[in-house]
Amino acid sequence: MTDRDQTPDEPAVPRIATNQVHGGVIPRTVQNTVATPIFQTAAYEFDDLATAKALFALEKTGNLYSRNGNPTQSVFERRMAALEGGVAALGTASGQAAVATTLLSLVRTGQHIVAPAQLYGGTIDLLTDAFADFGIDVTLVDQDDLDAWRAAVRPETRAFFAEGIGNPTATVLPMTEVAAIAHEAGVPLVIDSTLATPVLQRPKDFGADFVVHSATKFLGGHGSSIAGVIVDLGTFDFGAEPQKWPQFTEPYKRVGGVVLWERFGRDRSAFLIYAKTKWVHDLGPSLSPFNSFQILQGIETLDLRVTRQTASALAIAEFLAGHPAVSKVNHPGLVSSPYHELAARYLPRGAGAVFSFDVFAGEDAVETVIDSLEVFSLVANIGDVRSLVIQPATTTHSHLTAEQLVDAGFSRATIRLSIGLEDVQDLIGDLGRALDAVTPAGSVTPA
Ligand SMILES: *Cc1c(COP(=O)(O)O)cnc(C)c1O
Repeated sequence: MTDRDQTPDEPAVPRIATNQVHGGVIPRTVQNTVATPIFQTAAYEFDDLATAKALFALEKTGNLYSRNGNPTQSVFERRMAALEGGVAALGTASGQAAVATTLLSLVRTGQHIVAPAQLYGGTIDLLTDAFADFGIDVTLVDQDDLDAWRAAVRPETRAFFAEGIGNPTATVLPMTEVAAIAHEAGVPLVIDSTLATPVLQRPKDFGADFVVHSATKFLGGHGSSIAGVIVDLGTFDFGAEPQKWPQFTEPYKRVGGVVLWERFGRDRSAFLIYAKTKWVHDLGPSLSPFNSFQILQGIETLDLRVTRQTASALAIAEFLAGHPAVSKVNHPGLVSSPYHELAARYLPRGAGAVFSFDVFAGEDAVETVIDSLEVFSLVANIGDVRSLVIQPATTTHSHLTAEQLVDAGFSRATIRLSIGLEDVQDLIGDLGRALDAVTPAGSVTPA
């Protein structure tokens, strides 16, 4: 947050609409451009060798090489830190890179992560397959079962990971309770806030320590660029049990034995300095200047889009709940949802625009419904201005085993929707027509 936006006496309420347009910008720095330019350069010229040395030794901050960062990306990072109430942020090439970089910075070979079985399919793949190759162990729990979270903790646990709103069944995480269990275990809670966005939920208000987003989705908002971001909320104290976190509290060999926690601490995010100088530097999941620009453009209209998409999604969920061809609607805004009370507490501004429903006639009818839709596009993405539809079990979540699908709470009869900005009556009309094709004979179609 820039000083201009908020004085210390004011409550720490984010001014989303102001921050999403001005956050991170240092006005009149380059050719007095009003929009943030795309700094399309691979590298940066140093003033002199002493400056170059200081930059490499982490004694000075500045532009170095675009694998480590670029000025367009820096505006995006400062804006996201402002929107989430964090101390710093790190842009990455994708949401997957944000999740992987965050967890690799916390957890090492022989250590352990606790996460729910109800997660984005790509994250399940990362946790249960790629991390298994690294010797990192994961326990997947039922996220509604607080005793299961507690029971999963081991001495070598180093992170709790969850989504504030789950994909695709729109589960709502009891975040304060899960954060308390993580903190009892002396580990941070990382929240994937892709579906909520800072408009609907600030994980910091509920005890989270780190936030990640797939910026590809609502932040960018237009389905044009892949990107991700990690925000350090500045709440987790790695110094409380220093022996547990040698990567931050012992000399960092690659930069002259600096102890990151001493030099940067919480306020200047020792965590993200490590994430960037180790994992982004070594594996290279860097955000391009052009994609940074696209995401910045998207963020400038974030609350307008998310507010409208969230309202349309609820109206569509209500329509589907009354349709005879639909057996179940997973939307926490519905009174019938098991997450309705949690949503009132954790998502007072609405439960988002991604949710799912089951077709009464079962999995064989799913193809007819999806292929009959004309306004919805069949796309493996969410958070676009266009409304999107997919069958998760055979696409985005197709790597899940039959058992993992059951644990994740959906089936092959489940259809996921991501509601865009079209006229809501056109979307309802489109779904109504598609569902009529699979409505059981003799049932009454609502007027
Ligand atoms: C899409 C998505 C990701 C992965 O992001 P990419 O930008 O596709 O790499 C992670 N988490 C959630 C909840 C997502 O929807």
